[in-house]
Amino acid sequence: MVTFVDRPHLRDLPVSALPDRLRAAGIAMPGPLARQLTWRIHGTGALDWDELGLGRLRQTMLRAHFRFGAQLAPESVREAADGTRKFAFRLATGEVIEAVFIRNRSNRTLCLSSQAGCAMGCTFCATGALGLLRQMTPGEITEARVRIEAVTRERVTDVVFMGMGEPLHNYDAVMIACENLNCTDAAPISRKRLTVSTSGLTPAIRRFTDESRPWRLHLSLHSAIQEVRERIMPIARLHPLPELIEVMRAFQARSGRKWVTLQYVTLPGVNMDDAHVDALQRELRGLRYILNVIPWNEAGGAFRSPTWAEVKEFTTRLRRLKCPVKVRYSAGKREGMGCGQLSAETVAATQDRSAAGGHMLAPPGVFTG
Ligand code: SF4
Repeated sequence: MVTFVDRPHLRDLPVSALPDRLRAAGIAMPGPLARQLTWRIHGTGALDWDELGLGRLRQTMLRAHFRFGAQLAPESVREAADGTRKFAFRLATGEVIEAVFIRNRSNRTLCLSSQAGCAMGCTFCATGALGLLRQMTPGEITEARVRIEAVTRERVTDVVFMGMGEPLHNYDAVMIACENLNCTDAAPISRKRLTVSTSGLTPAIRRFTDESRPWRLHLSLHSAIQEVRERIMPIARLHPLPELIEVMRAFQARSGRKWVTLQYVTLPGVNMDDAHVDALQRELRGLRYILNVIPWNEAGGAFRSPTWAEVKEFTTRLRRLKCPVKVRYSAGKREGMGCGQLSAETVAATQDRSAAGGHMLAPPGVFTG
C-alpha cells in the first residue's frame, strides 16, 4: 500500500483519484481546470507550486491539503557514445537511483527505477548487491520522466521498468506510476509501450492478472532449471519454476496476449548449454513466448560476458524451440548503462553510507515481500 504520513504529494496520487481528493478537500475545480492541473503535474516539467498555473486562492487551498515540489535532486548525467544517457538522482532521504534514456530510431525509451536498491539479490545484477534501501513513491518514479524530458527536450515514447528494483515488489506505487504515465490529459505513454518486468513474484503476477492491468508484463526467466535459477535468482527458492510458469500461463490466457516475453540473460558456463535448451522445451510447454536473449553485461561478480560466437551458438541451439528469439543489444553497456549494470558504480558508495548508519541493507536472498 502507498501510505501518506502527511499531506499527499500531488504527483503521488493516481490521476483517476484527483477529482475525488479535491472534492473531499472542499476544493471546487471545474473539469477543464482539473485537466489543466493534471497536465501541469504530469505532462510538463513543473516542479514548483508556481508552475501549476493556479490562482492565488486555489493554490493556498491546495497547499493546505497537498504537497508539491521536487522530490529528486539531479546528481549526474553521463552520455554514452551511442547517445544513451544515464541519469542519477538523489532521493530526499539520500539514496541514489538511476534512469536510462535510450534513442532508437524514432523511439525514445526510458528505463525507470522503481526502488532504491532491490531485495531480490540476483547474483548477476549490480543493483541486487545493494539490497533494498527503500521503495520509491509514484511521484518519485514519474518525476524522473519529466526531468529527463526537460533535459533532453524530447518526449519519451516508451517506458520500461527495468531499472533499479523489482517493480512488482513495489506494486501499488508502480501501478499508480503506470496510470499516471498513461494519462490522456498529460502526454500519455501508450499502454502498449509501458512495460513492467518482473523476476517472478508469483503472487504479484496473479494480482496483476486478476486486476486485468493493461501494461505489458515481461518475465526475467534466465534459466528453466530450478537449481540453476535458485543459484542466480534467489527469488526462485520462494516461487519455484512450476508455480511461476503456471501463473504466466494463466496471465496469457486471461490477458489474451498472443505472446509473452521472457528475458534470458546469457551467462557462459551457467545457462547456455544443451541442458538449458532442453529444459526450456520441457518446462515452458503450453506457453507461447518470445525469448529475449540478453548477453550479460560486465557488472562485477563471478560471471563473464559471453562472446558473440557463444551467443550465436546458443541462439542456434534455441532454434529447436521454434519460438521467436531476439538478441537484445544493451544500449550504453560499454559505459555501464546496460541491463544489470545500474548502480554498479554506486554500490560501494552506498554501502559506505549504510555502514555509517544510513540504511538497512537486506542481504542477497532476504525478501521483504
Ligand atoms: S535483476 Fe532486477 S530483480 Fe534481480 S536484483 Fe537486479 S534489479 Fe533486482
